[in-house]
Amino acid sequence: MGLFSAPLPEVVSLPKSRQDVLAEVGIRTVGDALLFVPRRYEDFRAKPLEEVRVPETLSVVGVVQAHPKFSRFRGNFSRLATTLDVGGRTITVVWFNQPYLRERLIPGARVQVAGRYDPKSRQLVAQKTRFSAEGIATESLTPVYGLPGRGADAWFSELIRLLFSLPDLEIPDPIPAALREKYRLLPRGEALRTLHFPQDERELFWAKRRMAFEEVFLYQLKVLAARNVRVRTRRVREHRFRPEEVLELASRWPFTLTGAQRRAIQEIFADLLGPYPMNRLLQGDVGSGKTAVAALAIYAVVRGGRQAALMAPTEILAEQHVRTLRGLLPEDVPIALLTGRTPRREREEILYGLAQGTISVAVGTHALITEHVRFADLGFVVVDEQHRFGVVQRRLLAQKGDVPDLLSMSATPIPRTLALLLYGDLDVSVLDEMPPGRTPVETHWTTPERFADVLTFVDGQIERGRQAYVIAPLIEASDKLEYQNVVDLYDRVRNFLPRRRVGLLHGRLSGREKDRVMRAFVAGELDVLVSTTVVEVGVDVPNATVMVIYDADRFGLAQLHQLRGRVGRGSHKSYCILVADPRTELGRKRLQVFRELTDGFQIAEKDFELRGPGDLFGTKQSGLPEFRFTQLDSPRELRMLQIAHEEAERLLADSAFWETEEAVPLREALAGVHEEAGQLWD
Ligand code: ADP
Ligand code: MG
Repeated sequence: MGLFSAPLPEVVSLPKSRQDVLAEVGIRTVGDALLFVPRRYEDFRAKPLEEVRVPETLSVVGVVQAHPKFSRFRGNFSRLATTLDVGGRTITVVWFNQPYLRERLIPGARVQVAGRYDPKSRQLVAQKTRFSAEGIATESLTPVYGLPGRGADAWFSELIRLLFSLPDLEIPDPIPAALREKYRLLPRGEALRTLHFPQDERELFWAKRRMAFEEVFLYQLKVLAARNVRVRTRRVREHRFRPEEVLELASRWPFTLTGAQRRAIQEIFADLLGPYPMNRLLQGDVGSGKTAVAALAIYAVVRGGRQAALMAPTEILAEQHVRTLRGLLPEDVPIALLTGRTPRREREEILYGLAQGTISVAVGTHALITEHVRFADLGFVVVDEQHRFGVVQRRLLAQKGDVPDLLSMSATPIPRTLALLLYGDLDVSVLDEMPPGRTPVETHWTTPERFADVLTFVDGQIERGRQAYVIAPLIEASDKLEYQNVVDLYDRVRNFLPRRRVGLLHGRLSGREKDRVMRAFVAGELDVLVSTTVVEVGVDVPNATVMVIYDADRFGLAQLHQLRGRVGRGSHKSYCILVADPRTELGRKRLQVFRELTDGFQIAEKDFELRGPGDLFGTKQSGLPEFRFTQLDSPRELRMLQIAHEEAERLLADSAFWETEEAVPLREALAGVHEEAGQLWD
């Protein structure tokens, strides 16, 4: 083992307190420390003051004009203030809690001061001070590591400097030399040195580019390796069914399968009858008929004498699925609903039935993955709205069977190109065709000043017996603001429609309360539902015909599209009204795109073109991996992902490479996967 993987205390002497700080952020070895790169940089470089328009950090060189004024306050706090002549311009400089500078700040002294400068008050709050005797340097970019504790960033920076000066230090590079050359990537050691001690942005750009490639390249290797492992895992038990006999069931349904549904079901059957366990993602707009596809797959498994489970993120959705499945599957298929609301007696019967195998299909919420649930022979798992569950939860359910086949369903339209790259270990089926006979939702866009007109329109629809949603914007940064917003909106709607029954739904309500409000809306006991985006993605209220979205420009288009999918589910004409006053050209363009397109995938591709994926999904619920050096939000970075994908594929196929000395750092970087997924390379 080289120095790189040596524990830090074996290499340098560190006081206990500093070791604790490092341990807190997971730094144990020399390598850990070197890979702990700054979060951001502060620009303390000198800057002509006349160019500064808004407060920013910078450094100035000037001459002290007067003895500083010293004041103490609130016990331990102190303040020094004086004026500085910076190239003929006088500014005020303030030092907090650095009383020891008092003696040195004498009139005529030449100093360099770095800190935050406010051009309006012409005042600089000093963070760093250097006297001419120490040499006036135009400071470079100063790294901010965000380590806990005062002054930690400074000693950490010195520690890194020391580590880099060790003669035996060799920084292993997981990227093969041939690739580095081909894509002009810096060696890892050089990139890390730059990240810790950058001279300028240009240098930083190349260092980040190199690390970004490493990150996505390793990710692609992991994803592809995981796929290889799966492909090599033979299924434990077979499914025995004849596809024609299963499809016969569909011929008795009151509708004809769409072409997309037929394609998807063929792909699923092929998986079920194939030698390897299925891991497939079924993507399709709300209403595209995913559940019907899942029903056929479940039926196939049940005909083969095995059990199936369908997990949904909420009770309401689970109940809805049970109703749908009971309508679609033959009456003699025993289906049970298991949620947190299931009464104890019934619950015990269900658990018994599942363990004995007398119940073929279990539909439920998280309740399905509690430890008491046992299956006689769980062969197939369906997860609805897959992004709402973590990997762990999905795995827990899968562990109830003996390597069951897994089908995830999602209404979040991820552009195909991106899905292939990011979910390389999943196969993807897409329902890109809507069942016939749906009239597209008429979409309008109006400004907040005309909100009263919008509510008048809503009133008209209620008069005809319909219902409406009014959505307040999601504010991720502030739960409090978001709450305030939805309550304000609720009051406005109630004041404007005093005779109507208006309900309120938001994230602060308990699960039970949310459920109660939602049920009231489903039952038609409420005319209007004012809500944040917690309004459930798969809930079916065919009588709702209006979707009003306030501050619509704050949403990703994919999210707007899902909200719009809440209406237009019945026989009545439906409307989606965007209330927004976008201040930017981009904002207007996006709303225009949304008005014109009705296909979720087209919308996603378009928004992706306009803004990149970051905003498309809304940060939290995307389920996409989080990278440190890239946001994948520019065509350049997407190209990089594509290249990383291709190169990873090529490298995995090159078995000779993995035997070479050069492969060692890469194998080490992938060690975690190796453990998790089993043997990758033999
Ligand atoms: P999703 O889960 O994709 O949002 P669902 O499976 O809930 O969509 O289907 C929505 C509605 O469309 C259901 O009432 C379902 O019975 C119906 N449906 C499904 N497939 C078809 C089809 N091919 N033709 C007509 N209606 C269909
Ligand atoms: Mg659904």
